[in-house]
Amino acid sequence: MTAKFLIHYGLHFIFPVCIAFLFFKNDWKKVSLIFIATMLVDVDHLLATPIFDANRCSINFHPLHTYYAIVIYFVGSFFTKTRVISFGLLLHMLADFVDCYL
Ligand SMILES: [Zn+2]
Repeated sequence: MTAKFLIHYGLHFIFPVCIAFLFFKNDWKKVSLIFIATMLVDVDHLLATPIFDANRCSINFHPLHTYYAIVIYFVGSFFTKTRVISFGLLLHMLADFVDCYL
């Protein structure tokens, strides 16, 4: 296992659970599951060839990882109904963004 792999999956799974625990004390388990469920946004990788490329930067490459999509996630984080999902998607984008510089 490489450091890059550990950092990537740490940011995708452990970091969101920590954020949920710190900021959503009452329903941290539910929020953690929603945050981890935002991994589904990676479904847009299916449109790419190859589907997975460890050396490719997802940000601004895949449709749901573009800056336009990120703006929508950001706006969504201001509305109660979409706040948790939008925040999870932003954490996902942060994890993918960090990945581009490792
Ligand atoms: Zn992603």
